[in-house]
Order: sequence, then structure tokens, then C-alpha cells
Amino acid sequence: MAVCAVRNIFVTNITFASLGLSEPLLRALAAENYTTPTPIQVRAIPALLAGRDLLGIAQTGTGKTAAFGLPLLQHLAAIKLRADHRGTRALILAPTRELAIQIDTSLRTYGRHLNLRHAVILGGVNQNPQVNAMKQGVDILVATPGRLLDLVKQQHVRLDGVTALIVDEADRMLDMGFIKDVRRIVSMLPKKRQSMLFSATMPDDVVKLVGDMLHQPERIEVSPPTKTADKIDQRVIHIAQKDKRALLAHLLRDDQFKRVIVFTRTKHVANRVSEHLEKAGFSTDAIHGNKSQNARQRALANFKSGDVRVLVATDIAARGVDVDDITHVINFELPNEPESYVHRIGRTARAGSEGIAISFCDPSERAFLRDIERLVKRQIAVVTHDLPAGSLAPANANEERRPHHPAERNYKNPKRRTNFRGNRRAA
Ligand code: AMP
Repeated sequence: MAVCAVRNIFVTNITFASLGLSEPLLRALAAENYTTPTPIQVRAIPALLAGRDLLGIAQTGTGKTAAFGLPLLQHLAAIKLRADHRGTRALILAPTRELAIQIDTSLRTYGRHLNLRHAVILGGVNQNPQVNAMKQGVDILVATPGRLLDLVKQQHVRLDGVTALIVDEADRMLDMGFIKDVRRIVSMLPKKRQSMLFSATMPDDVVKLVGDMLHQPERIEVSPPTKTADKIDQRVIHIAQKDKRALLAHLLRDDQFKRVIVFTRTKHVANRVSEHLEKAGFSTDAIHGNKSQNARQRALANFKSGDVRVLVATDIAARGVDVDDITHVINFELPNEPESYVHRIGRTARAGSEGIAISFCDPSERAFLRDIERLVKRQIAVVTHDLPAGSLAPANANEERRPHHPAERNYKNPKRRTNFRGNRRAA
């Protein structure tokens, strides 16, 4: 048994070469130190090389980009066709700008010896460079749906030469209200094509899209959406909303919190938390939908390089953030959609490493916590904080008291039990 670098995955000694990939791709993979294909790659690559359609029920972190990207690159390189002016041979749709850029970067890396033309189309930035990139036609276009439709309408992009379609994170397309746009785009494509759809969950509208878009697809499910990565240590701290900022700053004083993503529900709270942390002397930045694309890319680059230690993000902005070695995910606010919790905590424990997810739960968020526990089918361990009493905001007389729970543990050392005031007891 070989252990794969991607989280939570064990596979047998199948190699990329044995899956039928060409030499230029194998060379690029070797340079990236990909030694063993992940389970989704083991199953998807031969099916796609054989021309099948594919339904992948998988989250980011499973290696799905290479699973569809490698066969796609191989086909495009083998069939030496030039795309028409303003046209593309392959179209990949992604719900967010970050994910689109990440897919494009990965495909350029895997295809670096193939001499194919790539372009990205996304909203929030000037359209002119994108229009120019499309003028001669490209082999692979990665796009977000809104801007793509816009450019098609302006006749800067044509879709009648598409031979391969990939819809990534279809459930997120639905959440973000893009599913109609996706359907419109699909209706503009030639019927004869290879199609793939990836989704972490399968709500009804995605099932319907699959029925309309895919032809007898190979179905691959790698990790059920309800199952959170085994390697993530999940804990919850019950704390009043007004005390959360003090607790966050307190936790971050611990050096073990090396690279941290903090999630909030709204852009407004993301900004406030980031400002507060900055004042407290932490290197931090925020990413959310109101920030320009350039500001978001800069924040991500600084987070990747380690110049920014704490990235504060909303759910949508964080989709597709692929940064290794995130030590902690902190849910400053719990998400109202339990699936978002799974996506959020999946940011840590990537690439085989271990990670910790800590959720702050105000009494008003208890219902969200219950929904999350129902979805992930486990009770999340309650831990107490050791925040000095004087650093908390004045107590609200009506505030609900956090009940004592037998599973209470200290957040730094889960084995040591604490009582609800934070005093240690013997385990
Ligand atoms: P994805 O699920 O496509 O977002 O990929 C998650 C991460 O795993 C990315 O950082 C990839 O570069 C990495 N990755 C994908 N496939 C492999 C592999 N076979 N071996 C090692 N790393 C991989």
C-alpha cells in the first residue's frame, strides 16, 4: 500500500503511467512530485481517456482537478486542431474567480510541455485582456458563468467549437444562483462533446442538470459529503458573540496557530474582525465579494507566502482556496448552511497533514451547530477557553449560560478535561 499525499486517501501501487497518460504529462507530474494517483484519478483518468462522460461526487482536496485535467490535456494535444477565432475547444465552468484561477494554474502546470493555449474569463476585472486573449482562439478556457455569457453576448467569445465541457462545484453554482446561467451556456454548446460534472453534494437541481448534461456517465464518489476528513480535530467553544474577538486574539497569541483561516458569515464582520486583529498586531487580511479581484489575489498570495498569518474570509470567497499547511480553521461565526461547515473545515488537513477546526458558537447559533452535527453524524467536542475574565466584554445579564457537557475538553490539550469555568480537573 502506498500512502497518497492527498488527505484521507490510501491507494494501491497504481502509477500515472499505468493509467495511460502520455510522457509529457508524466514529466510534468514528476516535477510536481505527484507519485501516486488519488482514488478519483485512478478511476476517472481511464474512463475519460476512453471518451466517457463523468459524474464526480467529490470535494476539493481529492485531486479532482488533475482527474479531469490530465485526460483533457492529453486529448487536446493528441488531436491537433486549432480553435476558431474567439473560440475554445474545451470549456471549464467554475463558480468563483479564485477557483477559476486555481484550475487554470493547475492545467498550465500539468500541460506545460504540451504547447496548448489557455485563457481565463472572470468577472470583477477589466474585460479587455480577456477579449484579447480569446481573439486567436484557445484550447482551454476556464470561466465563471456570468462574465462568459456577457462576452458571448458581445460576440467576443463563441462556443460552437467546444468538444469538452467541465462544470466544477455544481452545488456551489446552485447556491450562488448560477445554475440558470450554466444551463444557458450548456444549451449553446454542440451536442456532440464529452462532458464532466463535479459536485460535493447532490441537491435535486444538480441531479436534474446531470440528467440533462451527461450521457451515461461514469459515476465516481470519493468521499461522502457528510463525512468530514478524519484527520481534522473538530472542537466547539460556546461563547457570546461580543466576546469572540477577544477570544480569537487570545488564541492567536499561541504560536501553534501558524497559518489560520477565520470564517465569518458576512463581509461586514470579516472586515471588522480583520481590522481588530490588525490593531492587535497580527498580520492579517480579509477576502470577500466586495474586494476587487486584485486585492483578493494579493491577499491569497500573501497568505500562501506566509506574510499574512491570518486570512479572514466569507464562505464564497474561500471556495477554491488551496493553500497547504493551514494549521487551524476558526469558525468565528457558524455557517447557516451545514454543508458550508464541511467545505470550511476542509481547508485544513490538506495534502495529508493534520488540522484543527475550532468553532465559536454564540447561544443564537446553537441551531446551526445542531444541523452541522446531524450532517457530519458526530457530536463536536466542546472545549473551554482560558481567556482571562477581565478581557471579556461586560456580561449581559440575560445571557444564556453554557451548559456543562461531559465531553468538555481544553482546546489546546483535548485529553485534559476542564470544567466550564476553565479550571482543570483530572482526566
Ligand atoms: P484538488 O482536489 O484538485 O483541488 O487538489 C487538491 C490538492 O492536491 C492540490 O494541491 C493538488 O496539487 C494536489 N494533488 C492532486 N493530485 C495529487 C497527487 N496525485 N499527488 C499529490 N498531490 C496531488
